[in-house]
Amino acid sequence: MNKLLILILTLAFTISNTFAFEIVYPKKQDVSINAKSTFFIGSSKKPLKINGQNVPLHETGGFAYVVDLKQGQNVFKIESEDDCKTYVITKPNIKPYGNFLQEFRQYECKKSAYVTTDNTPLRSTPIDAGINRLAHLQRNVLLNIDGEKDGFYRVVLEKNKFGWISKTAVKFCENYSNTPAILDRVEEDVSSKNYIFTFKLNKMVPFEIVEGNPMILKLYNIEGAPNGVYTKEFSLSEIYDNEKPVGYSGKYIGTDFIWQIRKPFVVNHRHPLKNINITIDAGHGGYEFGAIGCLGDKEKDITLAIAKFLETELTKRGANVIMTRDADYYVGLKERVDIANYSDSEIFISIHGNALPDGLNPNEHSGTSVYYYYDQAKPMADSIIETMTEELQLNNDKVRQASLAVVRNTNALSILIETAYLINPEDNAKLVNDSFQKKCAKSIANGLEKYLLNNK
Ligand SMILES: [Zn+2]
Repeated sequence: MNKLLILILTLAFTISNTFAFEIVYPKKQDVSINAKSTFFIGSSKKPLKINGQNVPLHETGGFAYVVDLKQGQNVFKIESEDDCKTYVITKPNIKPYGNFLQEFRQYECKKSAYVTTDNTPLRSTPIDAGINRLAHLQRNVLLNIDGEKDGFYRVVLEKNKFGWISKTAVKFCENYSNTPAILDRVEEDVSSKNYIFTFKLNKMVPFEIVEGNPMILKLYNIEGAPNGVYTKEFSLSEIYDNEKPVGYSGKYIGTDFIWQIRKPFVVNHRHPLKNINITIDAGHGGYEFGAIGCLGDKEKDITLAIAKFLETELTKRGANVIMTRDADYYVGLKERVDIANYSDSEIFISIHGNALPDGLNPNEHSGTSVYYYYDQAKPMADSIIETMTEELQLNNDKVRQASLAVVRNTNALSILIETAYLINPEDNAKLVNDSFQKKCAKSIANGLEKYLLNNK
């Protein structure tokens, strides 16, 4: 054979060998997975078998194939006409947890303490997860603690009302008795965008803001207040005709507590997005890939593409858009929140693509889901999911409340959109498509406009 022919044959063999099939999940051929089942995610150009069973392939070649796992080693032989790989997945033999939960231990007398870390959650239950945050406390907020359970101290807020705070974020005061704080006066101010209340205190006390109409601020451990609780109510409907608030914040500057409530949007009915400050957050980036789709695409690239289309769309409709990233680099969660808060954004939209943990079936989960944390943001989430699922023919995978850092710590009306599932072959085929990404952005913008026009 001449050299050229050998080269062509070698090349052809290498290409066919490299491209026979790709597995993007599990990430390694020898892994430990503790679940009743897992899945192989990837793509193949040729018919594929896993342990002798045909794997259904999407027209793009993408697939998601669920396999059950038994205790110990599970061997999977994956083969196409000209390629073969073996995966060994070990399901570890982990004994079920015993009952390590401690009983609540009440102290003989209350102890004075202070918060050592900014943004520490004060929770309604001694559980480090879920929707149980009463407030986020800054460093040096003073607390009265009357007991402990597991990793938490119990904070006395008022008679028979308690909060829970992580032991790692609190120190006991030595030789200091945390007597009630003195509230000297309350100052009221109005800026072009906000109502501002300043509570002149002589020390930092725990607080809670309860959403609703009216919105209620409670300052705990206040001298002379009923039950030690100072309550301030604020209702927009007294000023505006049944308007809903669109974001707020509560924080200390020195020992002054500042409660800031954003005025309702001034909606231009012909151009509802005009002059609205919107932060668009493309999920993941840089070394943080996010999920990997069937065809090997990375979530960080898809989120950036949709985010950029959305930037164009919203700018075209008159909004002031701020991007948390506009290229492929890493941005931390706190940085994303800071960008939204410092730019005084009224709306925050985080774009993601969905995946699933082991034990679930990617072929049975598809479509769009939208997450919010504060109740105020739910109507916006509802409007966007309705518009997206209708215009894009995507499954409605529901609006849900979840404690996600980017929607929890932003002062704007904040949502996180899981556009569709990267590991569902059908959804994935759409997500990697340019014109779908563009339509997706357009649809988010339409949903936003509908929300702004109907937020009465
Ligand atoms: Zn993501």
